Amino acid sequence: MKLETKVKNTLKKIKIPKRNKILVALSGGKDSTVTAYLLKRFGYNIQGIHIDLSMGKYSQKCLKAVRELCRDLKIKLHIYDIKSEMGSSMCYLRTSIQEKQVKGKLKNCAICGVIKKWILNRESRKLKAGMIATGHNLDDEAQTYLLNVLKGAPKLSLTSGPITKNIKDKKFIPRIKPLFYVVEEDIREYSKVKKLPVNYEKCPCAIDSYRIQVREFMNTLSTKDKENIVKNSEKLLSKVKRNNEKILYCEICGEPSRNNICKKCELIKT
Ligand code: AMP
Ligand code: ZN
Repeated sequence: MKLETKVKNTLKKIKIPKRNKILVALSGGKDSTVTAYLLKRFGYNIQGIHIDLSMGKYSQKCLKAVRELCRDLKIKLHIYDIKSEMGSSMCYLRTSIQEKQVKGKLKNCAICGVIKKWILNRESRKLKAGMIATGHNLDDEAQTYLLNVLKGAPKLSLTSGPITKNIKDKKFIPRIKPLFYVVEEDIREYSKVKKLPVNYEKCPCAIDSYRIQVREFMNTLSTKDKENIVKNSEKLLSKVKRNNEKILYCEICGEPSRNNICKKCELIKT
């Protein structure tokens, strides 16, 4: 099936009202770039948001690509500058969090992921967006599921899907992943065919060894194998009974959280 048809079907499955304002989380990489390109092409009401992580040349190239894309697509771009908003670059924030952790240091990508999610939810609510779209693809999803299985905690994937399955809450903005069923290689090729402005460099801080090992293993799999992981895990997880989860508001920042203090504040305060 063609990439465009796959994405159209995914969007149909998640039923998004066309008037709904969707904020696309743009990293400057190929996945979120293709996500924005297709959502715009399919007539959705989108705007872009980029978190400038202040990571030297890499961040400058990402920002340049994002600006170019938003100009070409004629969409509004919101920039969240982590240095001015949070006081330091992502590298510094992350290292200071890791230095304070006595045991079981959290991996770079895990820390960055928690902080980015926190920013995206808060900013999209401020901007009155109905949804956040990210560029997560089939490879990312299969990797995360396998990692969760290897950690002995497949239930961590319960909220994952082309649309988040968290409990509904007015402060929680649903996240959608239009490329959920598309393999990374197809996205790379599509971005090249369409000559989209993309920074193809990898994040210099993505050195989570466990994820890299899983990724290397996944590179030996066929598209069908990867699809099986994602589709069968979705089927399996849809049958798992969920405990009576409730949403609380973080005592420090007020953001929705499963605990009294949200993950981001827990990290920053340690
Ligand atoms: P990653 O965790 O880096 O693989 O990114 C997954 C998705 O998160 C991307 O496809 C983007 O939609 C979003 N994202 C990552 N980095 C940024 C960023 N700096 N600014 C905005 N969105 C981002
Ligand atoms: Zn908090």
